[in-house]
Amino acid sequence: MKLENPLTGSMVSLDEWWMPFTANRQFKAAPRLVARADGMHYWTPDGRQILDGTAGLWCVNAGHNRRPIVEAVQQQAATMDYAAPFQVGHPVAFEAATAVANVAPAGMRHVFFVNSGSEAADTAIKMALAYHRARGEPGRRIIIGRERGYHGVNIGGTMAGGIPGNRKVWPAMMAGVDHIRATHDLARNAFSRGQPAHGAEFADELDRLVAFHDASNIAAVIVEPVAGSAGVLIPPQGYLEKLAATCRRHGILLIFDEVITGFGRLGTPFASHYFRITPDILTCAKAINNAAVPLGAVLASDAVHDTIVNGAPDGAIEFLHGYTYSGHPLACAAVLATQKLYAEEKLFDRARDIAPYWEQALHSLKDARHVIDIRNLGLVGGIELEPRPGAPMRRAFETHVRCFEAGAMIRFTGDILAMSPPLIIDKAQIDQLMATIRSVLQTID
Ligand code: PLP
Repeated sequence: MKLENPLTGSMVSLDEWWMPFTANRQFKAAPRLVARADGMHYWTPDGRQILDGTAGLWCVNAGHNRRPIVEAVQQQAATMDYAAPFQVGHPVAFEAATAVANVAPAGMRHVFFVNSGSEAADTAIKMALAYHRARGEPGRRIIIGRERGYHGVNIGGTMAGGIPGNRKVWPAMMAGVDHIRATHDLARNAFSRGQPAHGAEFADELDRLVAFHDASNIAAVIVEPVAGSAGVLIPPQGYLEKLAATCRRHGILLIFDEVITGFGRLGTPFASHYFRITPDILTCAKAINNAAVPLGAVLASDAVHDTIVNGAPDGAIEFLHGYTYSGHPLACAAVLATQKLYAEEKLFDRARDIAPYWEQALHSLKDARHVIDIRNLGLVGGIELEPRPGAPMRRAFETHVRCFEAGAMIRFTGDILAMSPPLIIDKAQIDQLMATIRSVLQTID
């Protein structure tokens, strides 16, 4: 199969790119391709418009190809393409860190730049271990994750993550992880609007693991405040509060993975603001710079930062960690332009204001074919389909493909359809998205 690059006009082969998290043989036999994007839309190479119901991959929160971000990256590329971040600095990275700190939860003004959500997770885990070592408790090394959690694909994130398929080929690459159970409870919570009423007691799982391992061996708990990749799991009312209280009681660090919830997804800068819970370490990426250039960040509390940084001898590198591209000038220029755009257009408020319409529209699909649950919070939506007997995931996959053919981009994970549109989506576009899903489900066996 050959395809034309619209910029150069050259013919492109699909054979060589080994695509990530993709059924390569199936995809290349019938590819779904996009070649151009703007605002709420993609366009296929043959010019068909696709409404973006997923903000790319939960990341293009301001919409595609926004001029101020494009121009900031172009200008930075022409001014200074790259600068080493080890023992040398540049103003754009410092300014970008300040911009991120200015929207961070109170007391989390220390920003460590990485290149992705996966690197953010592994960096957060290393930071938690370094913190306990610096304060004289090096025995605290166990990381507690949660079943169905997703923290990217590097070793720490894979092991702390709780998606069985992502772990089974690489068992036990990292010692000392354990997991609390997921909060999904279809029997009690199906079709909940916003946070489900039942399930705060799932947090008691942490008490069980503390009793089992002893707190003196546990470094941190890492969870997504709202789990996205494993199927849009909204935390039950009171659950995160309980989890946070148990962590505090036992000196265990709480790491919030805000890679998808960061930068307005719930109508607040971070989910931490939404739930009014401040973790000790927070990971983010994606919408930090509207995904214009790869970038992630780990935010640390004063206590975590000061313990590590002030605990080292003068002149010593306090945290022996970092990447060649940490604080890359192009990525940081995109942070500055993105954060300015978010503030000028009040996009987090916009997400908050349109969320009730989103919820109503999403739940109007309750009677659509195959639907067994609908979940939502902020501008996040999940629709769980009854699996086709003997063929799990097929229904959701076929829905994704037919929606693409019908002009709407949605994601699927297992038999769950996942949506997270750009925060600029309007009511007519929400209606279009839901109408497309409804009519496509009607055609799916
Ligand atoms: N953490 C969460 C919660 C995510 O949703 C993702 C990606 O979707 C990651 C980490 C990994 O981010 P990346 O793909 O940028 O490595």
